[in-house]
Amino acid sequence: MPLPTITEPARQIPLYGEYEVAVLGGGPAGIAAAVAAARAGRRTLLIERYGFLGGMGTAAGVTNFCGLHANVHGEMRRVVRGVASELLTRIDRLGGLNAPHLILGKILAQAYDTAAYKIAADDLLAHHRADILFHALGAGAVMEDERRIKALMVETKAGRQAVRAEIFIDASGDGDLAAWAGARFEVGDNRGGMLYPSMMFRLNGVDPQQAGEAWRSIPALMQAAEEAGTHRFPRRGAIVRPQRSAIEWRVNFTQLTRPDGAAINGLEVDDLTRGEIEGRRQALEAFHFLRTVPGFENSYIVDLPPQLGIRETRRVIGDIMLSGEDVLGCASFDDSIGVNGWPIESHVAGDVIFKFPPIPGSRGFNELPYRMLTPSGIDNLLVAGRCASMTHDGQSAARVSGACFAMGEAAGTAAALALSGNAVPRDIAVARLQTQLKAQGAFIGRDEQVPEGL
Ligand SMILES: Cc1cc2nc3c(=O)[nH]c(=O)nc-3n(C[C@H](O)[C@H](O)[C@H](O)COP(=O)(O)OP(=O)(O)OC[C@H]3O[C@@H](n4cnc5c(N)ncnc54)[C@H](O)[C@@H]3O)c2cc1C
Repeated sequence: MPLPTITEPARQIPLYGEYEVAVLGGGPAGIAAAVAAARAGRRTLLIERYGFLGGMGTAAGVTNFCGLHANVHGEMRRVVRGVASELLTRIDRLGGLNAPHLILGKILAQAYDTAAYKIAADDLLAHHRADILFHALGAGAVMEDERRIKALMVETKAGRQAVRAEIFIDASGDGDLAAWAGARFEVGDNRGGMLYPSMMFRLNGVDPQQAGEAWRSIPALMQAAEEAGTHRFPRRGAIVRPQRSAIEWRVNFTQLTRPDGAAINGLEVDDLTRGEIEGRRQALEAFHFLRTVPGFENSYIVDLPPQLGIRETRRVIGDIMLSGEDVLGCASFDDSIGVNGWPIESHVAGDVIFKFPPIPGSRGFNELPYRMLTPSGIDNLLVAGRCASMTHDGQSAARVSGACFAMGEAAGTAAALALSGNAVPRDIAVARLQTQLKAQGAFIGRDEQVPEGL
């Protein structure tokens, strides 16, 4: 039932600034987009609701990069480079980057320290002269006409302000700006089902010798505990892995549902409220169980992140939608702007289900078409990251950090090219974009050699 409403009086809103490119959201996609646009010489502002960058990677305690690598005919290669490489170098310099580790025996992921990520991202944006506006919640759009955004409205401690830009990039993860601008979008599987959210947390005080490779034994211990009736778990497929210092482990164990069993909806504030509280409760239960695992007896919760981890909300409909078949079939696209090597990772009720392209029979990655970033109907908007144009299954793979970095770098570069050619982003010469991305060190697939090394 619709809520009753009140009328807000019209008012004049101060203009915070006028930019060539404004990016909403400072996760992997937003970081890469802002860096790419600013590095191309465009006056760029990144707007973020928190006081730090990293998106789910820091704010939701993810602490692990997936999708930077692909299993190419049985050989591991790092396929996401460009801006992502600049960030990784900085995190590593701060001593905050693990060596890549194997997941399910098939693909690599790479853990990091959130403090190092935040500092490295600040430094990266400063280095490329991208402006940042922290503590600013995007709250609406003012349109010039139905195809063009005039200003993004933000709520700050100083009240509501407006940011004008020639081109906007929605990297909010939730497609907030695209939705306010009237772009079409889908939510979840269109039947009310979304990937289930999780509350991440990290333990400290683990005895690394005793714990050993506990990530291998924990699933069997969970099953035994359930059979013995001592514990009940919200999902199978818990991920418990060491961070850079092996006394600290990240725990991806929880699953947040509504009373009817559906996933918590990250677009609904009552759901988010329930999810945060229930997420912390589940984290505590998981902790009680983990303390029974050898090596974890004296561990303690060192971090419950600032927010619940949201995997999927809006997916904005663009000029093409990346599908699950594209992922499993390692699809190629003429307008490729980067690649995704992560499999489909579906967080369904009570479980996490992975689906890989054939390994080692395939090259293990799909290309990401530029048309994923151009929402149909809005001319001065690009969308990058987990809210880009993908089907539910396509998003279950390409939502992870690696592909988000690639999409963001392409969006920022495309915005700069559109400005130099006085074109709308949709109409830029994609071959020029591809040449530019390659010159920046990005790997876009096509006829390029897959880069060597990790
Ligand atoms: C529990 C969990 C575990 C995961 N595990 C992994 C993993 O191990 N490895 C991996 O690579 N990926 C993992 N992912 C997925 C990955 O973290 C995200 O999909 C990825 O961060 C998406 O990047 P993004 O830039 O598109 O969006 P996000 O990371 O969601 O960033 C969006 C940013 O926009 C900001 N924002 C949103 N709305 C507004 C607004 N209105 N105004 C201002 N700012 C706004 C947010 O604060 C945020 O900083 C996991 C996700 C979850 C939830």
